[in-house]
Amino acid sequence: MKAITVYPGKPNSMHLEEIPMPEVMDIPNGQGVLVKVLRVGVDGTDKEINAAEYGMAPEGYNFLITGHENFGQVKEVGPNVTDTIKPGTFVVATVRRPGHSIYDQIGLQDMTTDDVYFERGINLRHGYLTEYYVEDAQYLVPLPETLREVGVLLEPTTVAQKGLNQAYEIQRRLKVWQPRRAAVVGAGTIGLLATLGMRLRGLEVTCYSRRLPPYQNSNLMTELGAHYVSSQQMTLKEASETYGPFDIIFEASGFSPLVFQAAEALGKNGVLVLSSVTGGEKKVEVNADMINQGFVLGNKVMVGTVNASRADFVSGVNDLVKAEAFYPRWLNKLLTTRVEGLENYAEMLRHLTEDKEAIKVYVEVAQQM
Ligand code: BGC
Ligand code: ZN
Repeated sequence: MKAITVYPGKPNSMHLEEIPMPEVMDIPNGQGVLVKVLRVGVDGTDKEINAAEYGMAPEGYNFLITGHENFGQVKEVGPNVTDTIKPGTFVVATVRRPGHSIYDQIGLQDMTTDDVYFERGINLRHGYLTEYYVEDAQYLVPLPETLREVGVLLEPTTVAQKGLNQAYEIQRRLKVWQPRRAAVVGAGTIGLLATLGMRLRGLEVTCYSRRLPPYQNSNLMTELGAHYVSSQQMTLKEASETYGPFDIIFEASGFSPLVFQAAEALGKNGVLVLSSVTGGEKKVEVNADMINQGFVLGNKVMVGTVNASRADFVSGVNDLVKAEAFYPRWLNKLLTTRVEGLENYAEMLRHLTEDKEAIKVYVEVAQQM
């Protein structure tokens, strides 16, 4: 069968590889599940992997099968798989696999303290841009059939969910925390999905991003009932004076200087969630005394978030279901750019790197069974 692969360390090495079909019995204890891949989304991480800025091949291979935003349908199950997962079930597999730290041992590998981490399609484990994969049932999350069209958005949704779930978990320190206003910095896929998650949690949301409205992403924000403010219209501090104080700020712009503006604009007792993976070496001058004093006198929290646990996948499924009920067809509009078949990987890359209007580029690998 075919797979889209790269030679890690070699820039622009994306190519098709012929690989053997996996089998349910490749997984121990009768827990194997063979999944037919239907759709796979791609994002900045895939772009960086093809640029050789990131990613390693699994042991014994000189290539890495890419793709981590997966959606598929179960074809066959091992003898000990519970009946929540059976042939025909739609599933999404989580991305990170356990290493050695105590967090990994309790199923929180997204919180690993190990230096090396294992992520399917990203680092040391093959991904999902292929025709079939096998996985241990414990790493698969079932989805209702109603999410057939939009299920490929679950993995990016979980990145936003983890940030929000962590924020709420942290804020239990406040005993009676009732967040009312939030800001999302950045209007890309994660910014949009974080806005969705916060609207579904009853928050008034302001999205702060570079581009002047109206355009596709600002329209999607207003369809959720969020305010959209361009950084060309006001500073984040001014936005907080108009629409704040912000109990939560979710940073997903990919532009690290905004982190310090967000720290300044955060409300008392607020939580600032950082989710941008910024590989560069940008430096900025910041209002150090002011930010520090604001955090001290305002009991504020700043937290980083990466990847997602199984619980975040489960809350993500719930939010996707709610989204279909409260904002019908909104999720479909994120699926802007479809590529037909694995063999069109060059077109996929082109959309990913050049198409500035694309929200989610995804490969239609196969039709449902
Ligand atoms: C993925 C996460 C992953 C992170 C770091 C993101 O693109 O969605 O699952 O943990 O990259 O590798
Ligand atoms: Zn990703």
